[in-house]
Amino acid sequence: MPENYIALFDAPEEAEARKIIAAAQPALERGIGCIRSGRDFPAVKAGLTDKLKSGIVNAAFYRFIVRAKPFTVSDACIRCGKCENACPLGNLRLRDGTPVWGGRCTHCMACICGCPAGAIEYGTASRGKPRYQCPEYEK
Ligand code: SF4
Ligand code: SF4
Repeated sequence: MPENYIALFDAPEEAEARKIIAAAQPALERGIGCIRSGRDFPAVKAGLTDKLKSGIVNAAFYRFIVRAKPFTVSDACIRCGKCENACPLGNLRLRDGTPVWGGRCTHCMACICGCPAGAIEYGTASRGKPRYQCPEYEK
């Protein structure tokens, strides 16, 4: 999938994101085929690096990196409420029309990448970066 983790990395521009999605289409079709025919997905081999990433690295990442405190909202906010609706954990509520983040963030970046006004930043890390959100999401 196209990168959307702008707390640490860059998101692709729109044309590049479309290329990445197009390249994933065959794998998506194979997955759809498995679901339709009731077959299991092919087993994925997890190497040592994968196990480390899903184990120690992931635990440390959540412990030290994943937090909502750096999120800020600017005067560009149009109070549409999309960020509140997008948060899968209900970690973000509008207060007097502007978002306030709680302590249950999972760093999915749905709030910041889906803001139609570009009003949300993650500290200085997200400044000037393109936001990526799947074009199908709005539909
Ligand atoms: S999505 Fe953006 S513009 Fe809409 S309420 Fe949230 S911060 Fe404001
Ligand atoms: S990054 Fe995701 S989990 Fe965290 S507040 Fe935004 S939408 Fe919610």
